[in-house]
Amino acid sequence: MAKTKTRTTAKVSRNGQVKTPRLNFGDKWDYSPAPESTKIVKIDDQYGHFIGGKFVAPAEGKYFDTINPATEKTLAKVAHGTQKDVDKAVKAARKAYEKYWAPMSPKDRGKYLYRIARMIQEMSREFAVLESMDGGKPIKESRDVDVPLVAQHFFYHAGWADKLDYAFPGRRARPLGVAGQIIPWNFPLLMASWKIAPALACGNTVVLKPAETTPLTVLLLAKLIQEADLPPGVVNIVTGDGEAGAALSSHPGIDKIAFTGSTEVGKMIQRSAKTRHITLELGGKAPNIIFEDAPLDQAVEGIINAIYFNQGHVCCAGSRLLVQESVHDEVVKKLEHRIQTLRVGDPLDKNTDVGAINSKVQLNRIRHLVKAGKDEGAQFHTSRCKLPEKGFFYRPSYFTGVAQSHTIAQEEIFGPVLAIMTFRTPAEAVTKANNTCYGLSAGIWTDKGSKIFKTLGDMKAGVVWANTFNKFDPASPFGGYKESGYGREGGRQGLASYLEVV
Ligand code: NDP
Repeated sequence: MAKTKTRTTAKVSRNGQVKTPRLNFGDKWDYSPAPESTKIVKIDDQYGHFIGGKFVAPAEGKYFDTINPATEKTLAKVAHGTQKDVDKAVKAARKAYEKYWAPMSPKDRGKYLYRIARMIQEMSREFAVLESMDGGKPIKESRDVDVPLVAQHFFYHAGWADKLDYAFPGRRARPLGVAGQIIPWNFPLLMASWKIAPALACGNTVVLKPAETTPLTVLLLAKLIQEADLPPGVVNIVTGDGEAGAALSSHPGIDKIAFTGSTEVGKMIQRSAKTRHITLELGGKAPNIIFEDAPLDQAVEGIINAIYFNQGHVCCAGSRLLVQESVHDEVVKKLEHRIQTLRVGDPLDKNTDVGAINSKVQLNRIRHLVKAGKDEGAQFHTSRCKLPEKGFFYRPSYFTGVAQSHTIAQEEIFGPVLAIMTFRTPAEAVTKANNTCYGLSAGIWTDKGSKIFKTLGDMKAGVVWANTFNKFDPASPFGGYKESGYGREGGRQGLASYLEVV
């Protein structure tokens, strides 16, 4: 770190209270680069599908490139899945279900899950580096958030494997059979664990399709599963694009579909599914409400975590900020100051706060929606940071003067762009918060516990955080209302989605 001279300024607010001193970073110092080594990661030139416990070539012999979005360099070639590959994987999963997994004692199933969890912990650094390389997220997030949560999910569900009778007292729980699982690119390994761990704990076998842009950590998980000696076919991975996803979700041999992704694709899946057991975890446009009595400095950190975490590629991101009018200017001033300190760049640098946008397509989508925001009259503000010359990057940004009718107040931008609106009364905050086709998550910032309980009770959102944001726990059910989908993942409710409870 060079030249570490900083200055603090203390001010007295309107009500006579001394405000928290502000760190004035100015241009006096900067961080030196601290890149994480990639030596720990071994990437093959080419990957097949993982079917029946083996890596196999795609039926039609086609492969596609997966790239590092921060450098635009190709990392590996990955099998392009088609209907034939999906058929093969579903067949392998069915065989494994009948021959190994369903007849196995729940206690033994649990042992396999514990083994996988421990191996994930042992390989955590390799998983974290590979996740940042293939997906663009900062290493401090993949290392400190994604991978620990992945291990937690396997540990948590390993514990449930032989206790399902206690989860639903007085009733009998039976596995559904073969689960088809389709996951997005924003939390590749974490979403794989959210899907695979409960399915296996409940006695199902799986066929999982990762997103086209982020298959590598899921393929590394397949290698780990092979090493863990899981019976062949219990977990199958078919890589590919929407074609493979559609083949899987409409397959007649599937007993359960679990999907995380866009509302548009979720609707298509619902129409084509051949099973009634479906869970859809779709988009969101979460309100993050700041009342005037909130601790504002903490609330501003909450805003940063809510919208700039993982470049804003978060279905439950707090992308609509609702600030009480009396503190709007102060919050915006603090936010403006804070975003200038966010370090944007190399995802593998341990100091990076905001990494690369996952793909060129997503970067263009963000730009398109930002243009709509400007054209419709909202005021655009952005960080002044320098961006790397190569790769897909977007500066942390926010809009003020946003109206409820603006596109950026209604559509999921899925990038580091916040829409700020105001309210005067708690009732107005709730009305505005619920004025969306989504209902996945929400945040409330206030000093008053009673206000938290009153507000969250009035909100139509699956998860509501109070004086925090984007906190996840495998024991806590996650899922949405309205166009954010249905069904829950995590907790006892998540287990129920993989069982026939009679
Ligand atoms: P998608 O919904 O297209 O992708 C999610 C998964 O579904 C991917 O594995 C994808 O494969 C697969 N898929 C695509 N088409 C089909 C289909 N017809 N049938 C079955 N599966 C399919 O999201 P996008 O990647 O296109 O992102 C678009 C927008 O969706 C984003 O800008 C964001 O707003 C939102 N989104 C929301 C997410 C959430 O967690 N709620 C996650 C990701 C995106 P492939 O990647 O290979 O195309």
